[in-house]
Amino acid sequence: MFNGILIQKDENGYHANISQIDESQLPEGDVTVQVNYSSLNYKDGLAISGKSPVVRQFPMVPGIDLAGTVIESATSKYNVGDHVVLNGWGVGEKHWGGLAQIARLNSQWLIPLPKGLTPKQAMAIGTAGYTAMLAVMALEKNGIAPHSGKILVTGANGGVGSFAIAILSRLGYQVIASTGRPEESEYLIHQLGAAEVIDRKELSEPGKPLMKERWAGAVDSVGSYTLANVCASTAYGGTVAACGLAQGMDLNCSVAPFILRGVTLAGIDSVMRPYADRVSAWERLANIVDASLLEKISAEIPLTQVIPTIAKLMDGKVRGRVIVNLQD
Ligand code: NAP
Repeated sequence: MFNGILIQKDENGYHANISQIDESQLPEGDVTVQVNYSSLNYKDGLAISGKSPVVRQFPMVPGIDLAGTVIESATSKYNVGDHVVLNGWGVGEKHWGGLAQIARLNSQWLIPLPKGLTPKQAMAIGTAGYTAMLAVMALEKNGIAPHSGKILVTGANGGVGSFAIAILSRLGYQVIASTGRPEESEYLIHQLGAAEVIDRKELSEPGKPLMKERWAGAVDSVGSYTLANVCASTAYGGTVAACGLAQGMDLNCSVAPFILRGVTLAGIDSVMRPYADRVSAWERLANIVDASLLEKISAEIPLTQVIPTIAKLMDGKVRGRVIVNLQD
């Protein structure tokens, strides 16, 4: 038996609780992993709170990412004792995920733990850091370099936003952080490296099709009117990497930024990303992100604190990353 969060939907409604799970209940997979750490992401919040129908099968162990140690393997790709990392692939939505002490997984979804990172550090980065890295790589691919101009990051105090600021500033970009929590400006500037902080209200209401050119690029984890205004304020030839929907899934914008300013809207999906992209994003992260940043950006909790912490996350009251120690 092992401990984990189990989400059930039955005659008592939708509920998530810490449960004792028998190994015989584990789903199919060719690798079994002792989970060392998982982390809390916005999608885990949606799954555990039931706010949005991200869970497609019940009962479900949530947790869209994990770092752990292989304890059984039916594939030559991984041996017992190997350290592995997993993000996405519908884990925690369609297949049992990381918020339990043991997970059984498809080996195709795993990557080896990148050299230079501990399992705890890998989860301090987690899906949020990996998604932020993919977004920054999309800016780079479109030719946005530190000399191109300022880069806006929305949802600045969230997991993706915090990492996007830290990565961009370490790569030499000048970052404008947009947040609804201006009281966290000190953290955004001095700990993460933002050059400037703006109030997210500047971007969250319906705006004009084209506005003053303010940034060469952006990493947006907010969507909705914010993303429309971000595109409308991007300079000629700029790129906006869209990765989230914290404000909303809608996008009401005109084509003006794209056809009059040549702005590129680059969509970022971390879930189904091919293996090679994952490995290169994680290698970059292992080189760019240092241990002291991870200490500043993350807080560790035991499994027993997951449900109360999810309530705070959904209320926008969590700063940076929350990592869950499954062996505590
Ligand atoms: P998070 O830690 O909860 O951060 C979200 C941040 O968005 C909040 O901290 C807040 O930042 C801002 N925000 C929240 N509600 C808002 C609103 N109504 N209007 C404007 N800003 C708002 O979540 P996360 O894990 O960083 O994920 C961020 C988004 O990216 C989510 O939508 C998530 O689903 C998405 N995501 C997508 C992928 C992908 O593969 N595309 C991967 C990971 C995450 P401030 O307090 O600083 O304003």
